[in-house]
Amino acid sequence: MNRIVVVGASAAGLTTAETLRRRGWDGTLTLIGEESRPPYDRPPLSKQILTGAWEPERATLRSRQDLARLEADLRLGQYVAALDVPGHRVRLAGGENIGFDALVIATGVAPRRLPDSDLAAVHVLRTLDDAIALRAALRSGPRVVVVGAGFLGTEVAAAARTMGLEVTMVEPEPVPVRRPFGDRIGALVAELHRSHGTRLRCGVPVRRLRGAGGRVTGVDLGDGTTLPADVVVLALGAAPATGWLEGSGLPLGDGVECDAYCRAAPGIYAAGDVASWPNAHFGTRMRLEHKMNAVGQAMAAAGNLLGDATPFAPVPYFWTDQYDTRIQAYGIFPPDAEMRILYGDPSNGPFAAAYGHHGRVVGVLGWNAPRQVRTLRRLVVDRTSWAAFAATPALSPATVN
Ligand SMILES: Cc1cc2nc3c(=O)[nH]c(=O)nc-3n(C[C@H](O)[C@H](O)[C@H](O)COP(=O)(O)OP(=O)(O)OC[C@H]3O[C@@H](n4cnc5c(N)ncnc54)[C@H](O)[C@@H]3O)c2cc1C
Repeated sequence: MNRIVVVGASAAGLTTAETLRRRGWDGTLTLIGEESRPPYDRPPLSKQILTGAWEPERATLRSRQDLARLEADLRLGQYVAALDVPGHRVRLAGGENIGFDALVIATGVAPRRLPDSDLAAVHVLRTLDDAIALRAALRSGPRVVVVGAGFLGTEVAAAARTMGLEVTMVEPEPVPVRRPFGDRIGALVAELHRSHGTRLRCGVPVRRLRGAGGRVTGVDLGDGTTLPADVVVLALGAAPATGWLEGSGLPLGDGVECDAYCRAAPGIYAAGDVASWPNAHFGTRMRLEHKMNAVGQAMAAAGNLLGDATPFAPVPYFWTDQYDTRIQAYGIFPPDAEMRILYGDPSNGPFAAAYGHHGRVVGVLGWNAPRQVRTLRRLVVDRTSWAAFAATPALSPATVN
């Protein structure tokens, strides 16, 4: 094996390249990324960069010297348009073909939009340039409507509200962050936002964006009302960036479908937000959009490419920061899981909860409880029996409201 190509130069792509070198692989390494900027970290975009606490440069992941030390052919600002699996090569949008002996796909996800998203003052937030544009827009003191109350929407709403802006968050589900964490934590997140003065319109879909003179003026909701807006942020989730792989013959379902070793086809691996794989620890296929998973999966993909033959079976980790609250979560949170409080009191300050599913602890969540949740992580790693927690109080919506 002489040539490895990595497509996508962000958390997963950069980590893949660094792991290959750290593990002593000294062949030709090509790292190709669509964005012209050197690799940067995305989590601060909806937090420190948006509020202005950090200058944009601070999100940069590696110095020029660090990148040079990789001794990689770093092709920034280059979109890979196609993959030829039998020919073992990728084609750049400009037409150049680059051959490989092994390929790692790390192209992440792309934000979903609405019709009329091209109206002025309608924003999405995925790239550093998106964050810089949104931050500039927020500085003029606009009325902000955030469409979607998942992690991204709730973080953007919190950042805008922290800047003193009038913020309304719209969400078709009855509570924010319901899909990842369920109704009970969703109710707490709703309360957190209300207590900081963010308005919530949950349980109502967006019908369309309203505009005048090419600029957004409001958001029409399914119940017939209109929310006036000077800035609209679309936080509608994201889809795996696999358009360039259409017709390649790779298995594309929810992202690039890999086996337990992060492999999509012989010599072709995928890592990060774009990849789904069967996680043997939980006995389920998953695709995660978490920073630490992108890093861990890239290390696993690079190792397996070099011959490790180790299944990637992590306990996922995720965090979100909103106002003065940090929520941290280890594991998975199926919608029909049971929840028990193991530390603290959700109606009054920090707490940590465990989630049980099919007789095992599958997830633990901390609300401003970093030390406790780190300790409780062990329950997920050990697949502790849920029966041990039968006598612990269950958290119901009635106790959190
Ligand atoms: C605003 C924001 C806040 C976040 N906050 C958190 C958080 O608090 N906690 C957390 O755990 N995670 C958070 N995340 C998620 C985390 O950033 C992602 O999980 C992580 O960036 C995934 O890394 P990746 O390398 O797989 O994909 P990405 O970071 O999406 O990188 C993929 C790269 O591939 C490039 N690319 C795509 N297609 C092509 C192509 N055909 N050719 C060449 N290049 C291509 C893209 O331009 C992009 O640069 C956040 C994400 C965002 C956007």
